[in-house]
Amino acid sequence: MTLRVAQILHDSITDGPGLRAVVFLQGCGHGCAGCHNPDLQSFRGGTEMSPEDIVNEIVRNPLISGVTFSGGEPMDQAEALIPAAFALKEKGYNIWIYTGYLWEELDGARRELAALADVVVDGLFVLERRTWSLPWRGSDNQRLIDVKKSGKDIVEWEP
Ligand code: SF4
Repeated sequence: MTLRVAQILHDSITDGPGLRAVVFLQGCGHGCAGCHNPDLQSFRGGTEMSPEDIVNEIVRNPLISGVTFSGGEPMDQAEALIPAAFALKEKGYNIWIYTGYLWEELDGARRELAALADVVVDGLFVLERRTWSLPWRGSDNQRLIDVKKSGKDIVEWEP
């Protein structure tokens, strides 16, 4: 099982709390106007990596405390991403996932992957609702969902 990965950052402070690795998954079909990562929309680009390759790449930096899956659309590669998220969770990393899907739309492998995260940032980027004042969101329709506390009712994550 392989994933298409555009890039892995090893030292981000803008994609969730603390010093984090960010895995940018290649491929996204949402087509948001004003997309901030248009190069990541094609499902053909990027590099093929196994879940183990991703984990091995991340553990190289002993300073990071969290891992963020972004894109692109991580949920479109949910099945292959589950083993990586599971292994990283087992190692004690704080996990965030960005997705253009709504929490309520996540089912099957997508729901399984979401359950491994601490926080899911959901919803499309909406250009008319772009914000610079809300941390970790591109537009104010997006929600920071506290996965452990959310089920049918959504509980927003608080720092
Ligand atoms: S979900 Fe993100 S990567 Fe996909 S089109 Fe929208 S802004 Fe771009």
